[in-house]
Amino acid sequence: MHTFGGFRSGDKFFYGEVRGNDVHVLARPYWIDIEPTGEVQRLADVDVDLPVAPSKLIAVGLNYSDHIAEMKRTPLGTPLIWFKAPSSLLPHGGAIEITLPEHRTDFEVELAIVIGVPAKNVTVKDAFDHVFGYTIGLDISDRDLQKAEKQFGRCKSFDTYTPVGPFVYSDVDVSDLSIELWQNGELRQQARTSQMIYSVAQIVSFVSQSMTLLRGDVILTGTPSGVGPIHAGDQLEAIIGNWPPLRNSVVNAPPRDLDWRS
Ligand code: MG
Repeated sequence: MHTFGGFRSGDKFFYGEVRGNDVHVLARPYWIDIEPTGEVQRLADVDVDLPVAPSKLIAVGLNYSDHIAEMKRTPLGTPLIWFKAPSSLLPHGGAIEITLPEHRTDFEVELAIVIGVPAKNVTVKDAFDHVFGYTIGLDISDRDLQKAEKQFGRCKSFDTYTPVGPFVYSDVDVSDLSIELWQNGELRQQARTSQMIYSVAQIVSFVSQSMTLLRGDVILTGTPSGVGPIHAGDQLEAIIGNWPPLRNSVVNAPPRDLDWRS
């Protein structure tokens, strides 16, 4: 397994490969090219920042049977996909800002795929050739808007509604990993990735037949059951396998007094 991420040291942002307690600085994003500059920083001396910068942030819904049941939905027979705004991404350690605190806003822990080789009309058999690696993601969702509207893009695209990280892992088998969400120390979601209805390879093949996946694109693969509301003051911890947890706090966004009509 190799570990990559985005880091900040003072004003400088860089991508790097984590080896032990060190971060080996890369000349370019790792999904483009893994070229060490020779500079090495101590992991403890840098801040963890966003590990991805996708052209497309795609989400898959209804991919665990028990979540379909709790949402009172019926299986579609194909993956359900939609776009989240890449501007909704939030790094490990960042605060989720609930835009509309009067709405129910839920956590959803998900395995996230990072594309490494452009994918257009790829087969299930060849799909893994196009995957760079994986990370942990949260698909924060405004349920009031989700229920009121026929599409999922707006209710899941507010700034900070897609925490990911802390790192991205390559050369790892994600077919049967534990996936958990802890809220304030209480276990809320617990499943295994083997319970996904559509596998990583099937999802990549399916999406690649609708749009060309570019290097660095990210696909969230759906959440298991146990979703629940978040509130200001919460501490969320998302865990997949034995990867370092993705930790985020929750606050209310500053109130807005905007009228888009005038
Ligand atoms: Mg989701």
